[in-house]
Amino acid sequence: MPNNDPPDAEQDEDISDDPRLSAIDRDLASVSKRNDNQLLVILLVLVPLAFLYERSGFKGVWLDAAFLGLLFGVIGYMIFRVARQKQRVAARFGLVCRVCGEKPKAHMVLSAAMTQHCARCGAKLSG
Ligand SMILES: [Zn+2]
Repeated sequence: MPNNDPPDAEQDEDISDDPRLSAIDRDLASVSKRNDNQLLVILLVLVPLAFLYERSGFKGVWLDAAFLGLLFGVIGYMIFRVARQKQRVAARFGLVCRVCGEKPKAHMVLSAAMTQHCARCGAKLSG
């Protein structure tokens, strides 16, 4: 009999025993999830719009440029927003360096929490 359990528990084994790290991990994940959902909604609006535009006969270089600009603008804005929100999570957990003011980058938040040292100047973070 085949046993195909979904591999839920393959990640974060080593951080699950630290409540602070798993809280940070959970907050970061919820930021990603919230923004993924919003991006999905935006794409669900934009993709039909793109189809309508394709079929409408309204053709023009400026309209194409405007549409592409909108698309890339939205995606760029979402990426920027995720980074900002993750830095806010870092600030909430006291991971902003008091010596040089460095905020950990979005992908460095968890490792800053683990090492408790500033990635730029190496000062100890007091979280
Ligand atoms: Zn620093």
